[in-house]
Amino acid sequence: MVDVGVLGATGMVGQRFIELLDKHPEFEVKVLTASPRSEGKPYEEAAKWYLQSKMPESVKDIKVVRTDPSKVGDVDILFSALPPDIAAKVEPKFAEKYVVASNASAMRMEPDVPLVIPEVNPDFLDLIEVQQRERGWDGFIVTNPNCTTIALTLTLKPIHDQYTIKRVYVATMQAVSGAGYNGVPSMAIIDNIVPYIGGEEEKIETETLHLLGELEEGKVTPAQFGISASCHRVPVLDGHTEAVFIELEEEFEIDDIKRIMDEFQGIPQKLELPSAPEKPIIVREDEDRPQPRLDRDESNGMAVTVGRLRMDAAFENSLRYVLVGHNTIRGAAGASILNAELINEIIF
Ligand code: NAP
Repeated sequence: MVDVGVLGATGMVGQRFIELLDKHPEFEVKVLTASPRSEGKPYEEAAKWYLQSKMPESVKDIKVVRTDPSKVGDVDILFSALPPDIAAKVEPKFAEKYVVASNASAMRMEPDVPLVIPEVNPDFLDLIEVQQRERGWDGFIVTNPNCTTIALTLTLKPIHDQYTIKRVYVATMQAVSGAGYNGVPSMAIIDNIVPYIGGEEEKIETETLHLLGELEEGKVTPAQFGISASCHRVPVLDGHTEAVFIELEEEFEIDDIKRIMDEFQGIPQKLELPSAPEKPIIVREDEDRPQPRLDRDESNGMAVTVGRLRMDAAFENSLRYVLVGHNTIRGAAGASILNAELINEIIF
């Protein structure tokens, strides 16, 4: 077993890590960190458990320690669910010694830090060598993208591999859990939609092109198509919905798009990594799906469900669809764990 820890273990994403790592076949949770508010408390007392599953017995008595490299002891991988400002300060210090698999946005766009979805761009892990050489670290940082970007990019990947994407428009309807437990006040979101999520549109636009880009000689050249996002917070607990509009250079058949999405697989499926969904994309034909409440837990929350896949008659060579992805599983904790499983398989 590989000994692991969770940084920011008491928060929304931290709790997902603990839920997903409970009884994991390769990783065993040994250390949990949080803010000074939680330091010294048993996890059961420090964390107000938000998830429907029960808090795993194995973590209840673990004493939460300060988020400081001198406090985490002898573990191999640290999963980070820290707020971005804290992550920016501490993740590089942890990476001097440990492998950090991070959800936070702080280090994602650093040129020597792999931003990875294992089904999309596993080759970006080659940047680890560059990172360790240039920074002199014994450990390293690997990041996963923003929750909305992961779901979108998984569905774009098979299309990008076979056709030339000219432009993508995406309108998101994002769950409140995406902002953390205290992120969106109930008075702001019940009976309402908030048409602004700070920094989210920029993250989708930048990270998607980066993930679909090329790594050559230690440098990522982003994909070149146009992408425009509009992000909205909606009164849904978990599961981000996205309406996607794509224009291609070439003519295409909608059944071919359905087929390549349905058949799409990546290295996690080939290696049968423990958290890999059998199919990363589930294509549904029902006219009223996907819906977040019904589809977010597909394949333990690790698959993205696509529906309403159709031609867009208003524009040449265009299609549109709706997707749902679980924001704290495939979009956060599950994504970091899949990255770590891949690292465990091919690097350790
Ligand atoms: P959250 O619920 O607010 O949790 C934040 C965690 O960080 C808690 O464990 C908190 O500990 C800890 N923390 C706060 N201040 C700290 C400090 N000064 N030093 C050390 N630890 C501190 O946030 P979240 O929604 O889980 O998000 C965590 C990260 O994942 C963020 O970077 C976020 O952008 C990213 N992310 C979130 C989602 C999502 O869907 N929620 C998706 C993708 C990425 P205490 O309990 O002790 O305060």
